[in-house]
Amino acid sequence: MTLDRRVFIIQSATACASVVATQFALAQMSAPDLVKESDPPAMAVGYVPDATKANKVKYPTYAAGQRCGTCILYEGKAGEASGPCPLFPNKQVAAMGWCSSWAKKG
Ligand code: SF4
Repeated sequence: MTLDRRVFIIQSATACASVVATQFALAQMSAPDLVKESDPPAMAVGYVPDATKANKVKYPTYAAGQRCGTCILYEGKAGEASGPCPLFPNKQVAAMGWCSSWAKKG
């Protein structure tokens, strides 16, 4: 094997590793963690990832059809399973979730 060929193989392997590392980093950046029901800020507002599981005794204002995807504070795109909500910085809420701060999207 010639020196040029060895250098080419090493450079190719390095480039591949770099691409994989970059894609992994982008994947990490593009998918913030989902808010967990057990997170203290979520518990404070009764957040649930499935609106139908909202505590209707504790939050009697809940009504069928209310969910993050129909909330004025929801910043996710239509059709996506989750998106940002200003109540939970650096996290995402489920489009089908709900919390007691729900307000109808205009
Ligand atoms: Fe969902 Fe709205 Fe509550 Fe945010 S404020 S968690 S979008 S219901």
